[in-house]
Amino acid sequence: MDRIKALLVEDNPGDAHLIRRALSIPPTGSGGARFDLAHVETMRDCLAWLAANHCDVVFLDLSLPDSSGFATINSVQNAAPALPVIVLTGLDDPEFAASAVESGMQEFLVKGSGLIEGDLLHRAARHAILRKQLEMRVRASESRLNAIITLAYDAFVVVDERRRITLFNPAAERMFGWTADEVRNRPFDMLLPERTREDHARLFGQFLDGEADQRSLEGRPEIVGLRRTGDEFPAEVSLSRFRGPGGNVEVTAVVRDVTERKRTERELVRLATTDSLTGACNRRRFLELAETEVARLRRYGGEASVIMLDIDHFKKINDNWGHGVGDTALVALVELCRQSLREADVTGRVGGEEFAILLPNTGPEAALRLAQRLHERVRALLIPAEGGPVRFTVSLGVAVLDPDRGLTRSISMADKCLYEAKQTGRDRVIAERQSLEKAS
Ligand code: GH3
Ligand code: MG
Ligand code: MG
Repeated sequence: MDRIKALLVEDNPGDAHLIRRALSIPPTGSGGARFDLAHVETMRDCLAWLAANHCDVVFLDLSLPDSSGFATINSVQNAAPALPVIVLTGLDDPEFAASAVESGMQEFLVKGSGLIEGDLLHRAARHAILRKQLEMRVRASESRLNAIITLAYDAFVVVDERRRITLFNPAAERMFGWTADEVRNRPFDMLLPERTREDHARLFGQFLDGEADQRSLEGRPEIVGLRRTGDEFPAEVSLSRFRGPGGNVEVTAVVRDVTERKRTERELVRLATTDSLTGACNRRRFLELAETEVARLRRYGGEASVIMLDIDHFKKINDNWGHGVGDTALVALVELCRQSLREADVTGRVGGEEFAILLPNTGPEAALRLAQRLHERVRALLIPAEGGPVRFTVSLGVAVLDPDRGLTRSISMADKCLYEAKQTGRDRVIAERQSLEKAS
């Protein structure tokens, strides 16, 4: 700021002369600016000048031939909202001065008070320009922030230190079902289900009180949100603590509804882990679960078994009645397994018409009995087809899921039993023990 372009709006020739002289004297000390001063005497000329010229600051006498008091202030502000204005007046009225500053004037100087002197006027001008710049910057960032908050897809909820909601953006209104007016000054835990309120309030409270640092919330903790309808929804929340205008601590919570994402994730997991025709686990998922079971057995002991099941002459069903009937048979078989097994048992489709069944907490005898029951029930199964229902049979191999030999070899053993069942005529169950007894 070494050259300041200024407009003086002053109808009194004596005052104008004083101000011009004060501004023309370079301020003491270094760094003072030089003024290029334009001068008009009426509001009409002032507005015309402002429309045609640029300047850095306006010195404004309030009593002009064609305008006075606040009307003078308003006219200049409307014409040039970003322009710093220093009011010059003969009127020494502190209340009026305060209102003028409040309405956006940068400075209020009383003429004839000795204040209108070189150094002071220079300083007033420089400060007025800086303050106005700051004000415009604050206003711009406020508008920007407002736009972001209004347009954001995430909910913004600001809570004061009494845990009351002070800001609730349109996304929050849509997410929670309340309007900003309805929630203003109400406790924020109305946005949380009763049962999680205490936990969430503690987390939030620690944060508000400064006990939890910013880092502890960097992982975007997952919370449960409560809509006005009483419905709950999964949400991710980021919290940020800051000091509000009154110096009090406020917390901004940015809340993201992750219902859709969770649904998609669940669906992706389902697609990646199940066989689309029968709904049974796919091979990879079955092996994963079986491996987990082996690890559990290693750690906690206990027993478990595995059954391999293969449809007999399945090719013939396809060949004789068509692929559709074959498909129906596969679906019916899995449904039958589901009905015959416990919740914890797992059926996996490990090949085209080959299934593996994991039986936690099941010893060899119980596993054999279960396999025999499945074998019997499949024999009774009727698959609808043109020309009358179709029956089929299965062969089954039963083995111990033995943590010492591991998953692969346990499954191989069940496979070996299944192969033996096929070799000895199909439509039967062979268990590991029977197989071993025969071998010895
Ligand atoms: P085995 O008694 O020796 O097991 O004879 P199989 O005919 O049952 O066995 P094989 O392995 O020779 O034939 C399996 C058939 O299963 C061949 C294949 O076309 C059929 N298959 C595999 N997946 C599907 C499916 O998703 N739907 C239908 N309809 N058939 C399938
Ligand atoms: Mg088969
Ligand atoms: Mg086969």
